[in-house]
Amino acid sequence: MIKISLTFLVFLGALSAQEIIQTPIHFGEKRISLTKQYIEKHYGLQVQDITIVPKIILIHYTAIATFKDSLSRFKEETLPDDRPEISKASALNVSTHFMVERDGTIHQLMPLTFMARHVIGLNYNSIGIENVGGENYKDDLTDLQLIANMYIVEYVKKKFPSVEYVVGHHEYRCFENTPLWLELDDGYRTEKFDPGKGFMDNLRLNIKGMKEAPCD
Ligand SMILES: [Zn+2]
Repeated sequence: MIKISLTFLVFLGALSAQEIIQTPIHFGEKRISLTKQYIEKHYGLQVQDITIVPKIILIHYTAIATFKDSLSRFKEETLPDDRPEISKASALNVSTHFMVERDGTIHQLMPLTFMARHVIGLNYNSIGIENVGGENYKDDLTDLQLIANMYIVEYVKKKFPSVEYVVGHHEYRCFENTPLWLELDDGYRTEKFDPGKGFMDNLRLNIKGMKEAPCD
């Protein structure tokens, strides 16, 4: 990441009234039904619909270099064959509310009120932002992505006053002993490194009034 002044970044961010492009993934009856099954199996809740009340904005990187390839991982309703580590838990494909390209272009992939599958334990109360990049766990997200994430946080906060936390995926397990954690299967955990401390530190310097993950 090029070192430029964060004040300058905030200035840039404020200048650019960013557009959110609607780029819907397939989210039909099948995905909705699989989501309901996921909520029942993992969170012990029987629900009529998959509406969430978001408390957390959870930030990721895709670990894939291009937008096209990143998006293709989220498009289908069921998981592809090469995700055995999470397919045992459910055939529901992963999803995310937002995806941010390397140049900061923001896409909304699904309704913000639907539950996405993007994290263990916290799907039922979080909005997911995926950033294209981080291939081979490299901390390579761009300044334009940082600005786009700042914009999304403000946008989501305005839409959902219930949102309290901005959290990196690598911090998700810090919620395990809090009321927000819902996963019933103690054996279902994966180790996560995205988006990393550097990106989260920069983001937190530029947003106000949001809580950090309750890590010790
Ligand atoms: Zn992630």
